[in-house]
Amino acid sequence: MREHRFTVTLADQWGEGIVSYPTGSELDLDVRVESVHEGILVSGSVDAEYIGVCGRCLTDISEPVGVEFQELFAYPGEEETDFEVQDDHVDLETLVREATVLALPFQPVCQPDCPGLDPITGERRTEGTRAEKEAPIDPRWSALRQITDQGSAAQSRDPENTEES
Ligand SMILES: [Zn+2]
Repeated sequence: MREHRFTVTLADQWGEGIVSYPTGSELDLDVRVESVHEGILVSGSVDAEYIGVCGRCLTDISEPVGVEFQELFAYPGEEETDFEVQDDHVDLETLVREATVLALPFQPVCQPDCPGLDPITGERRTEGTRAEKEAPIDPRWSALRQITDQGSAAQSRDPENTEES
């Protein structure tokens, strides 16, 4: 059994979402490698930090991530497996990458109760504006409102008004 601690600098970005691990960021790995009957059992933990934006208010965020992983790298045999010992080496990249990317939040937020953006001003809301209930109608919708007003007027046209046409 051997233990290794090392730091890896990412040569490319990991993760595709609004938060990811950028190129050049560092992963601190703590890995334990054990020889077992079927192959080599690798377990360990990785500490990294993702960056990106809050999914609600688009503020820049960065958060530390700690994730554990474990996988058996089998000796090459008749059965093909996802992880194999090759030339007396185990390649941890796929394993660590999957574990680290899966640890990224689907809906990252700057704080658990982030109030998001104000739909009128586009500014980040504060607690005060959040309680506001009667928001004025968005001017972008006013054209639609005219259309619906005309529609209902045409349907309810009074027979007395027909002489106008
Ligand atoms: Zn936010």
